[in-house]
Amino acid sequence: MSGLTVRDLRVTYPGRPPVEAVRGVSLEIARGESVALLGPSGCGKSSLLSAVVGIVDASGGTVRWDAEDLARVPVHRRGFGLVFQDGQLFPHLTVGANIAFGLEMAGMARAARAERVAELLELVGLAGLGGRAVTELSGGQRQRVALARSLGPRPRLLALDEPLSSLDADLRSRLAVEVRDILQTSGTTGLVVTHDAAEAAVMADRVLRMDDGRLAD
Ligand code: ADP
Ligand code: MG
Repeated sequence: MSGLTVRDLRVTYPGRPPVEAVRGVSLEIARGESVALLGPSGCGKSSLLSAVVGIVDASGGTVRWDAEDLARVPVHRRGFGLVFQDGQLFPHLTVGANIAFGLEMAGMARAARAERVAELLELVGLAGLGGRAVTELSGGQRQRVALARSLGPRPRLLALDEPLSSLDADLRSRLAVEVRDILQTSGTTGLVVTHDAAEAAVMADRVLRMDDGRLAD
């Protein structure tokens, strides 16, 4: 299998009693494919996504990319990108500087960065807005910047946790289509988490339902 393979993944948070947020999930995402995880609040979607990306430790199971076991691979070496509900942009930086930040972290030289930023702005439909303060953007524009920033270093997989939930309904349905197109155009493998069935169907090639820490069949 080439792409992401998750086997019997478990996430347990310590406590009395411990919380078994993910209780043995197995799934595969082929390279270039987008899969949505759909389920009600509290069912373990974010925990699963976080364990795949590596920001939360799995308490059992395996996460592989192609044949490589990622258990000992830290977050920043997995080659995965992450987009949250509220974008988490740096408010004191311009649109362009927010996008360039990830590229700088990845060690890209200044001239190459400028070119890549322009390309990314084009990709997310914000061409020409690189100099704008992020505080002067609409919610939808901010999420586009977050997308561009996470796609900058060309992640092999982009994980999106409720990326549209902070937007109003009208904008959500439009951006859902854009997210799908952006993943396709950039050839990025996608794992997108949402509690909205319509959104899941639009954004992903395949929808997996999750309930109470497990995938429903
Ligand atoms: P979802 O994203 O589907 O809403 P989560 O993965 O956030 O679900 O949460 C799954 C379960 O794990 C919930 O019962 C939640 O309260 C619990 N949980 C999530 N994060 C933590 C944490 N850091 N510590 C303890 N319990 C947590
Ligand atoms: Mg969540």
